[in-house]
Amino acid sequence: MAGKITFTIIKPGAVSHEYIGPILKIINENGFHIAGLKMVGLRRRQAEKFYAIHKDKPFYNSLIEFMISGPIVVAALEKENAVEEYRKLIGSTNPEKAAEGTIRKLFAESMERNAVHGSDSDENAQNEVKFFFSEIEIFSISENSIF
Ligand code: ADP
Ligand code: MG
Repeated sequence: MAGKITFTIIKPGAVSHEYIGPILKIINENGFHIAGLKMVGLRRRQAEKFYAIHKDKPFYNSLIEFMISGPIVVAALEKENAVEEYRKLIGSTNPEKAAEGTIRKLFAESMERNAVHGSDSDENAQNEVKFFFSEIEIFSISENSIF
Protein backbone atom coordinates (compact mmCIF):
# COMPACT_ATOMS: atom_id res chain seq x y z
CA MET A 1 0.00 0.00 0.00
CA ALA A 2 1.25 3.46 -0.91
CA GLY A 3 2.43 5.61 1.97
CA LYS A 4 0.96 8.85 3.25
CA ILE A 5 4.17 10.83 3.72
CA THR A 6 6.53 12.52 1.32
CA PHE A 7 9.38 14.95 1.74
CA THR A 8 10.14 18.18 -0.08
CA ILE A 9 12.86 20.81 -0.22
CA ILE A 10 12.24 24.34 -1.45
CA LYS A 11 15.68 24.86 -2.99
CA PRO A 12 17.91 27.95 -2.53
CA GLY A 13 16.88 29.61 -5.82
CA ALA A 14 13.19 29.50 -4.95
CA VAL A 15 13.85 30.69 -1.39
CA SER A 16 15.91 33.68 -2.60
CA HIS A 17 13.16 34.63 -5.08
CA GLU A 18 10.62 34.72 -2.21
CA TYR A 19 8.69 31.72 -3.52
CA ILE A 20 8.34 29.96 -0.12
CA GLY A 21 4.83 31.34 0.44
CA PRO A 22 3.54 30.74 -3.10
CA ILE A 23 4.89 27.16 -3.16
CA LEU A 24 3.46 26.25 0.27
CA LYS A 25 0.11 27.71 -0.85
CA ILE A 26 0.01 25.42 -3.89
CA ILE A 27 1.01 22.44 -1.71
CA ASN A 28 -1.90 23.14 0.67
CA GLU A 29 -4.37 23.86 -2.15
CA ASN A 30 -3.57 20.42 -3.57
CA GLY A 31 -4.60 18.64 -0.40
CA PHE A 32 -1.27 18.10 1.33
CA HIS A 33 -1.06 18.56 5.09
CA ILE A 34 2.22 20.10 6.25
CA ALA A 35 3.35 17.75 9.05
CA GLY A 36 6.79 19.33 9.56
CA LEU A 37 8.40 22.55 8.30
CA LYS A 38 11.64 24.49 8.83
CA MET A 39 14.30 26.64 7.15
CA VAL A 40 17.81 25.24 7.37
CA GLY A 41 21.18 25.45 5.63
CA LEU A 42 22.91 22.35 4.31
CA ARG A 43 26.61 21.89 5.00
CA ARG A 44 28.60 20.44 2.11
CA ARG A 45 28.89 16.96 3.66
CA GLN A 46 25.14 16.86 4.25
CA ALA A 47 24.32 17.89 0.68
CA GLU A 48 26.78 15.26 -0.56
CA LYS A 49 25.07 12.60 1.57
CA PHE A 50 21.60 13.64 0.41
CA TYR A 51 22.59 13.50 -3.28
CA ALA A 52 25.08 10.58 -2.98
CA ILE A 53 23.14 8.61 -5.62
CA HIS A 54 24.16 11.25 -8.19
CA LYS A 55 27.87 11.44 -7.27
CA ASP A 56 29.05 10.15 -10.66
CA LYS A 57 26.78 12.43 -12.70
CA PRO A 58 28.27 15.39 -14.61
CA PHE A 59 25.97 17.84 -12.79
CA TYR A 60 26.86 16.59 -9.27
CA ASN A 61 29.47 19.21 -8.24
CA SER A 62 27.39 22.07 -9.54
CA LEU A 63 24.28 20.66 -7.82
CA ILE A 64 26.11 20.48 -4.47
CA GLU A 65 27.36 24.08 -4.81
CA PHE A 66 23.83 25.20 -5.61
CA MET A 67 22.23 23.32 -2.71
CA ILE A 68 24.64 24.83 -0.15
CA SER A 69 24.46 28.35 -1.65
CA GLY A 70 21.70 29.57 0.66
CA PRO A 71 18.90 28.56 3.00
CA ILE A 72 16.40 25.86 2.05
CA VAL A 73 12.96 25.05 3.42
CA VAL A 74 12.28 21.40 4.22
CA ALA A 75 8.85 19.91 4.79
CA ALA A 76 7.16 16.60 5.53
CA LEU A 77 3.92 16.39 3.57
CA GLU A 78 0.97 14.13 4.22
CA LYS A 79 -1.67 12.90 1.76
CA GLU A 80 -2.96 9.56 0.47
CA ASN A 81 -0.44 8.22 -2.06
CA ALA A 82 1.81 11.15 -1.11
CA VAL A 83 4.97 10.32 -3.08
CA GLU A 84 3.24 9.84 -6.43
CA GLU A 85 0.79 12.71 -5.90
CA TYR A 86 3.59 15.13 -5.03
CA ARG A 87 5.77 14.06 -7.98
CA LYS A 88 2.76 14.87 -10.17
CA LEU A 89 2.36 18.27 -8.53
CA ILE A 90 6.03 19.27 -8.96
CA GLY A 91 6.32 18.12 -12.58
CA SER A 92 9.28 16.91 -14.62
CA THR A 93 12.89 17.43 -13.45
CA ASN A 94 13.41 19.53 -16.58
CA PRO A 95 11.10 22.56 -16.20
CA GLU A 96 10.79 22.88 -19.97
CA LYS A 97 9.10 19.48 -19.95
CA ALA A 98 7.05 20.11 -16.80
CA ALA A 99 3.28 20.25 -17.24
CA GLU A 100 1.41 23.57 -17.02
CA GLY A 101 0.49 24.48 -13.45
CA THR A 102 3.16 22.29 -11.84
CA ILE A 103 5.48 23.82 -9.24
CA ARG A 104 8.55 23.40 -11.43
CA LYS A 105 6.79 24.89 -14.47
CA LEU A 106 5.81 27.90 -12.35
CA PHE A 107 8.99 28.48 -10.32
CA ALA A 108 12.03 26.68 -11.80
CA GLU A 109 14.87 28.72 -13.31
CA SER A 110 16.63 25.77 -14.98
CA MET A 111 17.08 21.98 -14.82
CA GLU A 112 19.45 22.40 -11.86
CA ARG A 113 17.63 25.29 -10.18
CA ASN A 114 14.28 23.55 -10.46
CA ALA A 115 12.63 25.04 -7.35
CA VAL A 116 11.86 21.89 -5.36
CA HIS A 117 12.85 18.35 -4.46
CA GLY A 118 10.30 15.57 -4.08
CA SER A 119 10.95 12.05 -2.76
CA ASP A 120 10.81 9.30 -5.40
CA SER A 121 9.72 6.35 -3.20
CA ASP A 122 8.10 5.67 0.17
CA GLU A 123 11.39 4.33 1.50
CA ASN A 124 13.32 7.43 0.45
CA ALA A 125 10.57 9.68 1.82
CA GLN A 126 10.95 8.05 5.26
CA ASN A 127 14.74 8.28 5.17
CA GLU A 128 14.68 11.91 4.00
CA VAL A 129 12.22 12.98 6.70
CA LYS A 130 14.39 11.29 9.33
CA PHE A 131 17.52 12.92 7.91
CA PHE A 132 16.08 16.43 8.34
CA PHE A 133 13.66 16.11 11.28
CA SER A 134 13.57 14.71 14.77
CA GLU A 135 10.42 13.14 16.18
CA ILE A 136 9.44 16.24 18.14
CA GLU A 137 9.28 18.29 14.92
CA ILE A 138 6.71 16.13 13.10
CA PHE A 139 2.98 16.50 13.68
CA SER A 140 1.55 13.66 11.63
CA ILE A 141 -2.22 13.34 11.21
CA SER A 142 -2.11 9.69 10.13
CA GLU A 143 -2.04 6.77 12.53
CA ASN A 144 1.23 5.27 11.34
CA SER A 145 3.84 7.83 12.26
CA ILE A 146 7.20 7.49 10.55
CA PHE A 147 9.10 7.50 13.84
P1 ADP B 1 14.39 14.80 -9.38
O1 ADP B 1 14.73 15.94 -8.44
O2 ADP B 1 13.29 15.16 -10.35
O3 ADP B 1 14.11 13.49 -8.67
P2 ADP B 1 17.00 13.71 -10.06
O4 ADP B 1 16.89 12.91 -8.81
O5 ADP B 1 17.32 12.98 -11.33
O6 ADP B 1 15.67 14.57 -10.32
O7 ADP B 1 18.12 14.83 -9.88
C1 ADP B 1 18.29 15.50 -8.64
C2 ADP B 1 18.47 16.98 -8.92
O8 ADP B 1 19.69 17.18 -9.66
C3 ADP B 1 17.39 17.63 -9.80
O9 ADP B 1 16.23 17.99 -9.07
C4 ADP B 1 18.14 18.82 -10.36
O10 ADP B 1 18.24 19.89 -9.39
C5 ADP B 1 19.52 18.25 -10.59
N1 ADP B 1 19.68 17.71 -11.94
C6 ADP B 1 19.21 16.53 -12.42
N2 ADP B 1 19.55 16.34 -13.70
C7 ADP B 1 20.28 17.44 -14.06
C8 ADP B 1 20.93 17.87 -15.26
N3 ADP B 1 20.91 17.11 -16.35
N4 ADP B 1 21.57 19.07 -15.26
C9 ADP B 1 21.61 19.83 -14.14
N5 ADP B 1 21.01 19.50 -12.98
C10 ADP B 1 20.36 18.32 -12.93
MG1 MG C 1 15.39 12.37 -7.49
